[in-house]
Amino acid sequence: MPSNEVSALLERRLRAQTQGEVLFDAASRGRYATDASIYQIEPVGVLVPRTEADIALAIDIARDLKVPVLARGGGTSQCGQTVGAALVIDNSKHIRRVLDVDPGQRTATVQPGVVLDQLNAQLKTHGLWYPVDVSTGAQATLGGMAGNNSCGSRSIAYGNMVHNVLGASAWLSDGALVDFGPLATLGTRAAAIAAFVRDLAARHRADIQARWPRVLRRVGGYNLDIFQSQGERPYTSDGGVNLAHLLIGAEGTLAYTRSLTLKLAELPRARVLGVVNFPTFHAAMDAAQHLVKLGPTAVELIDRTMIDLALANPAFRPTIASALIQSPAGGPAAILLVEFCGSDRNALLPRLKDLVAVMGELGLPDSVVQMPDDAPQRNLWEVRKAGLNIMMSLKGDGKPVSFVEDCAVPLEHLADYTDALTAVFARHGTRGTWYAHASVGTLHVRPILDMRRGGPEGGAAKMRAIAEEAAELVRRYKGAFSGEHGDGLCRGEWIQWQFGAAIGEAFRAIKRELDPAGLFNPGKIIDPPKMDDGSLFRFAPAGAPRPYRTIPLRPALDWSAWNVQNDPVTERTSAPGTGGDTTGGFAKAVEMCNNNGHCRKFDAGTMCPSYRVTRDEQHLTRGRANLLRLALSGQLGPDALASDALYQSMDLCVSCKGCKRECPTGVDMARMKVEFLAQFKARHGHSLQDRLLAGLPDYAHLASRFSRLINLRDAVPGAAWLSEKVLGLSARRELPKWRADTFWRSVDPAGFASRDDALAVARAGGKVAALFVDTFNGTFEVENALAAARVLKAAGYTVHAVTKSKGHFCCGRTYLAGGMVDQARAKAAALVDELLPLARAGVAVVGLEPACLLTLRDEALVMGLGEGAEIVAGRALLFEEFIAGELKAGRFGLKLTAADAPILLHGHCHQKAFGAVDAIMDVLRLIPGARPELIESSCCGMAGSFGYAASHYAVSIRMAELALLPAVRRQRDAIVVADGTSCRSQIAHGAQRQAIHVARLLERLLA
Ligand SMILES: Cc1cc2nc3c(=O)[nH]c(=O)nc-3n(C[C@H](O)[C@H](O)[C@H](O)COP(=O)(O)OP(=O)(O)OC[C@H]3O[C@@H](n4cnc5c(N)ncnc54)[C@H](O)[C@@H]3O)c2cc1C
Ligand code: SF4
Ligand code: SF4
Repeated sequence: MPSNEVSALLERRLRAQTQGEVLFDAASRGRYATDASIYQIEPVGVLVPRTEADIALAIDIARDLKVPVLARGGGTSQCGQTVGAALVIDNSKHIRRVLDVDPGQRTATVQPGVVLDQLNAQLKTHGLWYPVDVSTGAQATLGGMAGNNSCGSRSIAYGNMVHNVLGASAWLSDGALVDFGPLATLGTRAAAIAAFVRDLAARHRADIQARWPRVLRRVGGYNLDIFQSQGERPYTSDGGVNLAHLLIGAEGTLAYTRSLTLKLAELPRARVLGVVNFPTFHAAMDAAQHLVKLGPTAVELIDRTMIDLALANPAFRPTIASALIQSPAGGPAAILLVEFCGSDRNALLPRLKDLVAVMGELGLPDSVVQMPDDAPQRNLWEVRKAGLNIMMSLKGDGKPVSFVEDCAVPLEHLADYTDALTAVFARHGTRGTWYAHASVGTLHVRPILDMRRGGPEGGAAKMRAIAEEAAELVRRYKGAFSGEHGDGLCRGEWIQWQFGAAIGEAFRAIKRELDPAGLFNPGKIIDPPKMDDGSLFRFAPAGAPRPYRTIPLRPALDWSAWNVQNDPVTERTSAPGTGGDTTGGFAKAVEMCNNNGHCRKFDAGTMCPSYRVTRDEQHLTRGRANLLRLALSGQLGPDALASDALYQSMDLCVSCKGCKRECPTGVDMARMKVEFLAQFKARHGHSLQDRLLAGLPDYAHLASRFSRLINLRDAVPGAAWLSEKVLGLSARRELPKWRADTFWRSVDPAGFASRDDALAVARAGGKVAALFVDTFNGTFEVENALAAARVLKAAGYTVHAVTKSKGHFCCGRTYLAGGMVDQARAKAAALVDELLPLARAGVAVVGLEPACLLTLRDEALVMGLGEGAEIVAGRALLFEEFIAGELKAGRFGLKLTAADAPILLHGHCHQKAFGAVDAIMDVLRLIPGARPELIESSCCGMAGSFGYAASHYAVSIRMAELALLPAVRRQRDAIVVADGTSCRSQIAHGAQRQAIHVARLLERLLA
């Protein structure tokens, strides 16, 4: 690590000479100290370059100051190759242009920060794609993929990254920008490098031939064999030599890639899938060698544990179930997904027949589920791609650890190898779950180890012992120790083992030739540290210089569900609260983030709107989780939870709960933000704005009597400006219109059943619902509540409105948003008490505002409200969920007329997080002739009161402009349905369109 003076000088020079973002504060360095591996190394500082010139300058400055340089893309590497005590240069924010696409030649040239899915979306219009389909395609950058020589599920058909790169332009450590490509095209410097490598390889010819693993999947070490290709698939299709291939898989240790020229492939027009069900795991492994002879584009494994985990996940259950054949002995022990691609689906169907025939010959007739159609295939591939993440959602300190997860062996040995490695795991008191690329003999497997535990039973000791035994197996079966994810810190020391000392020296010579200054990513591939050096672990074990320990903390919410330990063999977890977490489980919940980077996706879903707008690691679910972890473990100094850095990181989290649903390990940052704010505000106190926004339910009843006066804020010139200056409420926004005729004042009690009447109807088996009217619909948009009641009554329901004299019940949401957990608890407790008799009697509690109603199913369960809250949660339904459920039960009927315009739906983030969007679509389809269209958007940006704050206004609008507002503007005549109060106000503000609650639409169309 360079001295403080040197890093200060580096920071100063980067600030003065580049236009990039220079991040040298402890929080930023902490955020870049990890990738998706078990390691953690604090960088010297971070540069987020705006231009290529910034990178070139940074390399020069770093060389001058002798500070190493580490290029970074999505930071999703699993082996620690993307962490180091270096200047980290993050290409992913600005260095992400597709420079050129040549459809005729089928090539594309890209900057290193381009994300794979981003490129493929662009190529689709040309009927092309880049076929190295890594599971992390939504977040992996081409620069990182090249660095790791990444490979996808279809590598048997298309090869690895190295087989699909035609050229690279890269900076060497002396600052020279060199074009790497086919030999005939090389300039002087590149030609000299080529000559050097050719001579070196010639000198080591015998060793190369003796030691090089002859499998498709070998990514360890450098590609010294480019002049005499040893792999199953030659580097180039014409047998020529391409010097760019030397850089592929070099993990950023040889040069800094400026651009890559890629070989594109025709986008397959048709795919068919056969899912083979096997009675034993061994049979599946043994079959792989026969199945590849059918010429599939993929043969992918999902084992029984993974099947069970997918079955247990509501999002995946129907999909995985559709691929299984039940037998008297139960479901399969493993399945293989066998895919065939081509230009014509009909021409592919006989391939499925061939598959069935081969399975018959192998003694397994009737073992194939045929999936000729796209949609079920797509869904099943999603389950397969989510494999690792499904596995990583295990709670407790034991985690599936990546270090022998992608050894590659020849297919004829696959069954014996997997049996033998399973026995190794068992000997060490653990177990692995197997999945992935059976077609190329690279199966992913991660034994469960507790890396925080020191000593002979600790993770580090077991990791080494297992790695040594696995290495012996790889040698016995003539495989490659490093078959997909790279070497990094966990396999660097095995390079020598795999290739021998002489080739190890040759690798060192290559490094010296290209990077004599030792500038690029030191300690990777050449001179790596020991894989089990605990001081480099994210969770440094007992015995390490700075063992990982959490601070004592009394959490405001109940996190005990995470405070557990697990059994590495059965994966059963201990009782909630028994995990020994000094923060009551909060830290363990935070530690569920394994840095896989899925929250960096842009294409679909909700997660993570703040990152989608800023593209800053700071405003990403992962960045937040990392910072919380560092704070909770004292690594950011004392009192870090009360620090400005933490506040800044959490500030733009709109609590959309996108991560709660979409983060593969279930990191629920919205809930964590409540906890954080509770801790932060306990120290700093609440602002006037906090109190004003949180206390709305308490003063709404009284304030509504003075509606005319309060509404002057948006009528009298200067009043809005004043409210911004004094209260921090954006002057650019109108506030909701106050009115005296609130729901509670305007309803005719005679029109609603009393609670006792509702209970009586329920006991008699009648149709009944309890309408929970929240503060927002009850105070500002009374018509929504009245409409809901009318619709339910029209469908024959007895409706009870949940009311109380002098005010109304509240779920506590506004208090939670301000981190005022005690006040929120009091509100929720009163509501739960009121609802409990109804819920016990089986009466559905029907709500209109997603954020409020769903509080009963979420935070109300972690505020210590006991069993009553669970019972109420079990009955709490959104208006549309209630109707959809009743429809399915055959109890719901409504006469509606057709709508006079197309219907556009914007789902509230919490509706999406709780899977309620399907329900609202079902309800909208009740409208004769309606074909509702769901707007594919993330958060509207309003997020309760978030968008009202002057400090959030710009970000809030940018979130809305990502997809929602343009979609609304595109369809001028559409009816826009949005159930969220804040969504409606954002749409009105940003697109000048009045969106309506679904209840209003149904009411309007009642026949
Ligand atoms: C859940 C999960 C699933 C995965 N599935 C797959 C899979 O299916 N197949 C697969 O191959 N991998 C997989 N990986 C590993 C990883 O996602 C891939 O290797 C991915 O390609 C890395 O891309 P990145 O942008 O995150 O690279 P990073 O981690 O940021 O970087 C990777 C390496 O490239 C170097 N690098 C980055 N940019 C440059 C540059 N401009 N110049 C020089 N060097 C550079 C870095 O220094 C580093 O050594 C998976 C990882 C996870 C967490
Ligand atoms: S927050 Fe979730 S999606 Fe994001 S990196 Fe962490 S585990 Fe992955
Ligand atoms: S709650 Fe929403 S904004 Fe916050 S981290 Fe999760 S996805 Fe991002």
